[in-house]
Amino acid sequence: MSSLDDLRAVLDPAAIVTDPQALAPHLTDWRGKHQGAALALLRPRAVEEVSAILRWATATRTPVVPQGGNTGLSGGATPDASGAAVVLSLARLNKVRAVDSAGDTLTAEAGCILADVQQAAAAHDRLFPLSLGSEGSCQIGGVVATNAGGINVIRYGTVRDLVLGLEYVRADGAVIHGLKPLRKDNAGYALKELVIGSEGTLAIVSAATFRLFPKPRASATALCGLASPADALRLLGLLRQSAGERISSFELMCDGEMGLTLDSVPGTALPLERRHGWYVFIELGDSDPAGRVGELLTDALAAALERGLLQDATVAQSEAQAKAIWHLRFAVAEANRRAGPSVSHDTSVATADVPAFIAAIETMAAERFPKARALFVGHVGDGNIHVILLFPRDTLAEQRHELGHAVNAAVFAIVSDFGGSITAEHGIGRNLTGALAKQAQPEALELMRAVKQAFDPLGILNPGVVLAQR
Ligand code: FAD
Repeated sequence: MSSLDDLRAVLDPAAIVTDPQALAPHLTDWRGKHQGAALALLRPRAVEEVSAILRWATATRTPVVPQGGNTGLSGGATPDASGAAVVLSLARLNKVRAVDSAGDTLTAEAGCILADVQQAAAAHDRLFPLSLGSEGSCQIGGVVATNAGGINVIRYGTVRDLVLGLEYVRADGAVIHGLKPLRKDNAGYALKELVIGSEGTLAIVSAATFRLFPKPRASATALCGLASPADALRLLGLLRQSAGERISSFELMCDGEMGLTLDSVPGTALPLERRHGWYVFIELGDSDPAGRVGELLTDALAAALERGLLQDATVAQSEAQAKAIWHLRFAVAEANRRAGPSVSHDTSVATADVPAFIAAIETMAAERFPKARALFVGHVGDGNIHVILLFPRDTLAEQRHELGHAVNAAVFAIVSDFGGSITAEHGIGRNLTGALAKQAQPEALELMRAVKQAFDPLGILNPGVVLAQR
């Protein structure tokens, strides 16, 4: 009997997929940069089945690559090319187990699509604030495993700030029942904090309990045209004075990125009279229906215009206009995917350093990679800037690997000068294991290896992700 036959005894036939056509989409990543192979795709329906799979994987020493919506941008959900691993999809664990309106919590299984969880909270008149361009496909297990960020971090924090309790399955199959809706819990080491953001290398997330928030009753959305990232930060400072904690999103985009998006993604249009060097996307929200955030935003933008911080701005007058503005921001990843060979980064620096950081990258790119266009988009209020170096379409395939290495080294040297991070929200995945090994303090890396060893002594959980294999 092959080792998969042992699994057939404990899983229903639909849970084990070996058909090459059905497997294919699970063997490559969203950007199409990684191509792997696998023994099978496993699709359990319940946490007990996840546990059985991990007991089997431990007994047979089979590597397990957990996969959610497969929208990750670091290659962490793609198996290596050996074909030795199984891909573990949590998609069939897709129940919202509970919404507690009194306690403002929601418990969802790993396979729930993020947008469905947002809707489940809204149906109970609450807000689940995590919002990403991939929210129609990414899953709860994936967002927890990557500690995802998105456009509302400036107000509500990353996934780590939203998770109260976690249920996860250890490499040996033991289920850790940690779905406590507690706001305060100092009983021992903070294990769930380690699992959050561990990219499938420490445990399999099966469900999470999240904080919910009051649903905004009044909101206002604006798109602004500005001359520079420095003006964007000045605008943020000004807005903070009047809007305070009502600022839910404050996003920056350069004109090159705006042009790519407008040219390549259907249904996008610029709601300003002309193009500008930089753009800022703003969302304000207030749980008080009389919060008059529209007025507040219009007044703040008028003051900014007067001070010369802004060149132009439009405030959405309807939900449809607000959606159209956010469509422009969310379409960026798709525009970049279509644009040709590129090297992308997910860097963060202290928010005040963003203008100098962008200038340093621009100078480096012009000197070292004159054929590339340097593009910038990101969550500027969090200091999280995605840097994209876009190369001409005719860049030879055999050059791309070397270029990728050279660009990474140059960008990460600048990140290091600014005391920043090589990944703010996407994670290390397979893409950045070498960079992490170089950038992390050796003693910190040693601790990471010890944590990995404690959770997964046989190294079967997503090997080669986060920590390079030795
Ligand atoms: P996958 O891609 O399937 O997996 C991601 C990682 O998590 C892998 O390492 C995988 O092994 C692991 N994993 C998945 N499920 C589990 C589980 N149940 N248990 C343990 N490990 C697991 N990210 C942001 O943070 N902010 C953004 O604004 C943002 N915007 C995006 C926009 C677009 C258009 C796209 C395509 C991606 C964007 N991303 C963003 C990246 C991505 O959507 C997030 O990282 C998301 O959290 C991944 O979720 P997923 O379910 O697709 O996970």
